[in-house]
Amino acid sequence: MTHIRWCTRQLLNIQCTHVAWPTLSHTLVSAIATTINTLDRISTTAGGVSYDNDQVTVPIVSCSANADFIRRVCDKTLAKRTANRNRACKEIVSYDLSEIIRSKKKVHDATDKNKSICQRLEAKSTTTTSGQKTTKVKSMKSARVVIIGAGAAGIAAATKLLQSGFENVLLLEAENRYGGRVHTIPFADNVVDLGAQWCHGEKGNVIFETVRNLDMLQPTGDIYDDYKCVRSNKEVLSETVANTLKSVAFNLIPERQEGLKGYEGSLGTYLTEAFWRDLQQSPEIDKTVAREFFENYKKFESSIEASDHLFEVSGQGHLEYWVCEGDLLLNWKDKGFRSFLRLLMQAKKDETATDNMGLLNKRIQFNARVQNIEWRTKSADVRIRLWNGELIEADHVICTVSLGVLKENHKEMFTPALPLAKCRAIDGLKLGTVDKFFLEFTEPFAPVDWSGFCFLWRDDDLAELRNSEYFWLESVFGFYRVSCQPRILQGWIIGPHARHMETLPEAEVLKALLWLFKKFFTLEVPRPLRFLRTRWYTNPNFRGSYTFRSVYADELRAGGWDLAAPLTADSDGKPLLQFAGEATHTHFYSTVHGAVESGWREAQRLITYYLGRTSQL
Ligand SMILES: Cc1cc2nc3c(=O)[nH]c(=O)nc-3n(C[C@H](O)[C@H](O)[C@H](O)COP(=O)(O)OP(=O)(O)OC[C@H]3O[C@@H](n4cnc5c(N)ncnc54)[C@H](O)[C@@H]3O)c2cc1C
Repeated sequence: MTHIRWCTRQLLNIQCTHVAWPTLSHTLVSAIATTINTLDRISTTAGGVSYDNDQVTVPIVSCSANADFIRRVCDKTLAKRTANRNRACKEIVSYDLSEIIRSKKKVHDATDKNKSICQRLEAKSTTTTSGQKTTKVKSMKSARVVIIGAGAAGIAAATKLLQSGFENVLLLEAENRYGGRVHTIPFADNVVDLGAQWCHGEKGNVIFETVRNLDMLQPTGDIYDDYKCVRSNKEVLSETVANTLKSVAFNLIPERQEGLKGYEGSLGTYLTEAFWRDLQQSPEIDKTVAREFFENYKKFESSIEASDHLFEVSGQGHLEYWVCEGDLLLNWKDKGFRSFLRLLMQAKKDETATDNMGLLNKRIQFNARVQNIEWRTKSADVRIRLWNGELIEADHVICTVSLGVLKENHKEMFTPALPLAKCRAIDGLKLGTVDKFFLEFTEPFAPVDWSGFCFLWRDDDLAELRNSEYFWLESVFGFYRVSCQPRILQGWIIGPHARHMETLPEAEVLKALLWLFKKFFTLEVPRPLRFLRTRWYTNPNFRGSYTFRSVYADELRAGGWDLAAPLTADSDGKPLLQFAGEATHTHFYSTVHGAVESGWREAQRLITYYLGRTSQL
């Protein structure tokens, strides 16, 4: 009776959740149930089932599609029965009805390459000898772990699992490359980072601690302190005025860690009050110039938060972010941030070999966009559907997609829907847009003693700009030199204007930037040899740059901790669906070290789970 009830429930589930599949009648259900009992008896009496301490062996009968359907149901029944007799079998891995659906669909949909990956995964959890299928109790070796996303968090999770004894690890990556928001590409004299560029801090930063003796990092210096402030009438602020304004603005930063305690407003309100209060100590500064400077400074600060503006950033919540002591702008010399990921992967030094991915060789399936993740708390497994219809079964899924992807897709992406706490966190946390421009010149442009420059708009020029086709240039806040790349300038743009810029053809963006230079400089700006801009928002695999705690998240009392909580199986709390990625980190959100820690956190969760199981045997 238990089996019949189980079968009926599974069939009803299928009817409820897979409307595209033909409805199964009650007659069919009871026919299946009868056949199960018959086959069950035959198999048992014929001595077809054998078991030892950690494996169950079930005979495979060659059969037609329908018989195959029934046989697989029997496999489950027999495996369960045997498991009851075998106390060592804490968890039985077996087929259920949804896997039948998967098998059918896979035959139709999967490409040969994808099929072989699936088969590899399955082959690792089952051993087939002639005519016999052996299903093992899951262990670290056989548990099927699928990681969605091969960014920093995914790579960190996968490499830790593999180094800890997991063998059945697959990464599904929507892009045709690994790294996610770490994206180093060849450009000008060596490489540029389209995404993450610096290791932010030393003490308590897992990236710094991993590479501290490897001579991979170097200080960026004062590039982001020493820049020139240029007004839209081509006037360059004197060192004295610029330094006074910068020191007022920059000193708000260490101070705010104290000042924000108990502060109920936004970061924008706090910084605005503090800036004008502290500026009173420098009455010699022209207030118009100070306002122009502060407008620019707010854009610069928004780029650190990745917010559209600072009034949406939580003041108090901002304290949740921990700044690692030490140099906050350590760069990766002429190798880029990718060199750190390659270190994690234990890939060989040869940067050009695309098939050289060390521990992750043949473990990443590229162009594999996940559309749906069905997490089944009763059967304690997960089924993943890709954009091309391919279905993949797993025991554990670690989802590392960005907050932007979750915001856009979570309602369709998860079956059943995510719990309320996660939905609130997805809603409340924000992922803004920060984009970069790279211009390669024949030789260094701008006076050699300029480390960079920022744009201060005068009121009348700004009014004119806002009425022009170049209105979006208002959010381009500055251009700076790049370490190890003397011939390039790197510019920054934030917020809604960045999102607009992403929609424009590249040639038009360059034309606008050259217009901007002309507007601000007396010196002739040469046409760059090469130009690049990023489009982090337009790309559906990111939908933004990095996460910040919004005022709204505070209202909802939601945060990265809600995202990080695993969704577990009903029976024994086995982690089924886990979340990693920078947005899930309570203190280091928005960074690569946060992403790496979150990947390690989720890998450790699985390691702890399996070690706990072993110790109970
Ligand atoms: C312009 C910019 C500058 C930055 N600068 C710095 C910096 O200097 N220092 C720093 O520490 N951090 C910086 N960051 C932030 C840092 O890059 C990120 O915090 C970190 O890389 C995020 O890693 P992740 O693994 O959490 O997410 P991601 O890197 O986004 O990885 C998620 C992966 O999932 C894939 N994916 C998405 N949807 C699907 C799907 N449906 N199916 C399958 N795969 C999917 C994506 O393609 C991606 O590869 C910067 C980011 C940007 C954009």
